[in-house]
Amino acid sequence: MTTRGGCLCGAVRFAASGESTHPTLCHCESCRRSTGAPAVAWTTFARGGFRFTAGTPAEHRSSPGVARTFCSRCGSALTYARDELPDEIDVIVAALDEPEGHPPADETWCDERLAWMDRVGTLPRFPGARGEKVTKPKR
Ligand SMILES: [Zn+2]
Ligand SMILES: [Zn+2]
Repeated sequence: MTTRGGCLCGAVRFAASGESTHPTLCHCESCRRSTGAPAVAWTTFARGGFRFTAGTPAEHRSSPGVARTFCSRCGSALTYARDELPDEIDVIVAALDEPEGHPPADETWCDERLAWMDRVGTLPRFPGARGEKVTKPKR
């Protein structure tokens, strides 16, 4: 089984073989700042089965022993890897071609979670841009 994904502009593409594990929604401040998103969904692949198939991403060391990659052209965040876990690479679910297949199984770093995330799921929903037609979230 091969899972494929890439950045917004298409310059960087990747492929990962095998099943992914530990899908999570991370609320840590580092993920937030590095992606510009309030929380980030990740899933983990074996590093040996992961490869970039197009382009070479830029790398940022966000903490000691931590490498985050992103597209230097469009800025999309792509992966996270720890030096002390050389067999694993975390991949941003939103960068996958089929993100629906990787729902988070838990939420991590909830001590740093934005309090207003509790309201997500209760807000008015528009099918596209904000307009007159509102659909109520199902509760
Ligand atoms: Zn790009
Ligand atoms: Zn995080």
